[in-house]
Amino acid sequence: MTAALLDAPRARRRTRRPERLLTQNSDLREHNIWNWTIPALATRLPDGRVVKTCPSAGVCAQACYARNGTYNFPGVIKRHQQNLAYVLDDPAGWQRQMATELAHSRHRGGWIRIHDAGDFLSDRYLSMWLRLIAFRPAVNFYAYTKEVSRFRRLVEPAPPRNFRWVFSYGGTEDHLIRPTDRVADVFPDEAAILSAGYHSQERSDLLAVLGPAPVGIPANNIPQFRRRMAGRTFREWQAERDAKRAARTR
Ligand code: SF4
Repeated sequence: MTAALLDAPRARRRTRRPERLLTQNSDLREHNIWNWTIPALATRLPDGRVVKTCPSAGVCAQACYARNGTYNFPGVIKRHQQNLAYVLDDPAGWQRQMATELAHSRHRGGWIRIHDAGDFLSDRYLSMWLRLIAFRPAVNFYAYTKEVSRFRRLVEPAPPRNFRWVFSYGGTEDHLIRPTDRVADVFPDEAAILSAGYHSQERSDLLAVLGPAPVGIPANNIPQFRRRMAGRTFREWQAERDAKRAARTR
């Protein structure tokens, strides 16, 4: 079973609801950014459902910061799964609680990063976010996403004024990204970002959507991820992967 569960009957499933939906770490606090997250890539919920949370992930899944370190702590996994289960099993309740939380004065003029991990896993889920964004015009929202075709269909025809996004390379829809799109790529280090003519967002995550583009992100210093990247950017790595696949099917 996959994200199609978003459209399945929900009444029989009960999961513990998180008390707070938005969180903040010290890096984000400095810039008044709050964060919503779900599990990265895919997860098996305690009731056995398997849900793809990054349907268009490509090579990024092999060097995903959110599948490493503290993200693998049992308490963190549980919390992210609770968030996802809430969205899947009680979308109306989740939207109500999120709308209430967003009404707090601390978010007025501030920023919400949609997804520290995970992505817009279905049309329905993205549409729920678009309704929340429209409902809270005093709050700013941003996201990195690999859901290029979904954004083309659902967001780009009427982009909300208080929502910014950046297409991040390393996904199976990289080939749909256009030269005029705002993009982010992951590089081996800061020097590689500069020499490619990209602009680092290292100083503040908000630069990903507010600073000059294209946006460069330095890779995390995780030895096995660096080995897999082999000096390539996510864009180059994905392009190699796509070319190999295309050659096999010829
Ligand atoms: S899309 Fe982001 S969160 Fe999902 S697997 Fe790729 S890097 Fe990880």
